[in-house]
Amino acid sequence: MTSAYCGKCFERGATAVAKSIAEGERAVCELCSKAGETWPIAVWAEALADVVAMYEPQDGGTELGVELRDQWSIFSSRATGDIDRFIDDLCQACSSTLRHTDGVALVEAARAQDAWLHFRETISRQRRWHSPVFVDAQRRLQLMVETRRDHLWPQTRDVFRARMCSDSRSRLNYRDLGAPPAGRATAGRANSSGIPVLYAATSELVAIYESRPVRGATVAVAHLRPRSGRLRLLDMTSLADVALNPFEAEASANTLIELRVATDLGRIIGAEFSRPVRLGDDIHDYVPTQYVAEYIAEQGYDGVLYDSSFGAIGGPDGANLAIFDLRVLTVVQKAPKHFAVTGVAWETAPV
Ligand SMILES: [Zn+2]
Repeated sequence: MTSAYCGKCFERGATAVAKSIAEGERAVCELCSKAGETWPIAVWAEALADVVAMYEPQDGGTELGVELRDQWSIFSSRATGDIDRFIDDLCQACSSTLRHTDGVALVEAARAQDAWLHFRETISRQRRWHSPVFVDAQRRLQLMVETRRDHLWPQTRDVFRARMCSDSRSRLNYRDLGAPPAGRATAGRANSSGIPVLYAATSELVAIYESRPVRGATVAVAHLRPRSGRLRLLDMTSLADVALNPFEAEASANTLIELRVATDLGRIIGAEFSRPVRLGDDIHDYVPTQYVAEYIAEQGYDGVLYDSSFGAIGGPDGANLAIFDLRVLTVVQKAPKHFAVTGVAWETAPV
């Protein structure tokens, strides 16, 4: 008897995909041990062949089983049975020689890192304004935006900007904490020089950390709030539901490989936004993310939300924002709050 698997053991869209391939049969599902409409491994292999084909063996690579369980939205929480055995059956049905314990890497076409490095090299060192590489980049960015969640920032919720005072007795006012005027904006990860963007944090503590204070310093913190209505932010900290669900991807015109590249590209770009800006940086290294930020702004977003390099301090919502149009925010209180930094904690590990 061949193994049968029900659609509920897989993510949303799985049953519809299976039905489009073959009629189901009533049997006990190998993954959840429940009786219901099931399909044999051959049907699931047809649905998931493109995912399996994305991997090639690599010594020291991640185990295929780990990849399929952690990097994709394939299995639902109902699948409590022997997933490893399912993966081995799946590979066999896809005529792949791989097994769930094999070390694997993505095939070249699925590697977002390569695409990003090529784009980065071109825009930083070769062509700033015109190149066929940018046509390709825009297509990938469009899909990348689709794989990310929209974050609607409520009008009632503050964002925070902090700046270290020159000495412990000095106090700053709101003007000192605003974005610099257009002509004087220095380059950052989300803005080119001369084009201001407002960088802020989602919590007071993240804002203070981001100002890189030393112990004994005084830090001023401004509270800002959306002027009218919610802000639409592209959330680089979390994926949209469809992102790595191979069953939902079937419905879109994009191939799974493109979707995988777009999803990984989003992770790479999110990490790039999070890298701290330091004095002495080569500002040309900011150009790739500046290009991405302008692309996101052109898609109608008010800003982008990304992880703080200080981690999720101040709670799980500890993150940073870059707001493209400075006019969408307004100050909350009359004067910034001031804090004395009584201690700074660092964790280290030998390298
Ligand atoms: Zn099942």
